[in-house]
Amino acid sequence: MAAEPGGQQVERRGRVSRRALLTGGTAVALGGLGYGFREDLRGLWYRVPGNAVPRTEGEVDFAEAEWLAASEANWRLASRPHDFTIDRVVVHVIQGSHATALKVFQDPGHRAATHYVVRTSDGRVTQMVRELDVAYHAGNRAYNERSVGIEHEGFVDRPGDFTDAMYRASARLTADICDRYSLPRDRTHIVGHNEVPGADHTDPGPHWDWERYLRMVRDARPVPQPSGGGATPSG
Ligand SMILES: [Zn+2]
Repeated sequence: MAAEPGGQQVERRGRVSRRALLTGGTAVALGGLGYGFREDLRGLWYRVPGNAVPRTEGEVDFAEAEWLAASEANWRLASRPHDFTIDRVVVHVIQGSHATALKVFQDPGHRAATHYVVRTSDGRVTQMVRELDVAYHAGNRAYNERSVGIEHEGFVDRPGDFTDAMYRASARLTADICDRYSLPRDRTHIVGHNEVPGADHTDPGPHWDWERYLRMVRDARPVPQPSGGGATPSG
């Protein structure tokens, strides 16, 4: 399940390293100020309130997802991966039905949501928060800022809820996320909510078959990009 106490606060630490290089001002340092430096400037620009990557209502980041907006109280505006690096997928289990997840993530009082929800019966994927934005799902601000959260319908103590259709659809989604942000398809970059530091949640639980899931993620074929071009990193 998703949760982040106090997740609504906006805060960001400044970057020191590039500034230190600039004030150092040596020829060697300046010679290194290429692509990475421009990326940092763009990152700083997107951290200024009011500056955000343009987005279109209803657009999805995963071509096979349907869109249903979460309440704005359950996530915060960002411009990932320009302002925050995305380097994790966090796997959740809802402890409830697909319909319950859609309902509570639309509820401003819930104070939490994931980017995606996957249905047991047919693997239907619903996107509720853009990957550009920080969803409150991991119970850890740093993880929220750099991860994409996926909820799966079902209960941690009911292995029958984890159907082949759900695993398959989720694996395609996770593989697509890994490809779009150049993440290795491994357990360092694909973690359970229970593995997030400080998390007091146990999902996805002991019946989540990580070996099978990782194998499916690694075997997943590329998914066509959404027609809108969405959140594909541009450089
Ligand atoms: Zn969770």
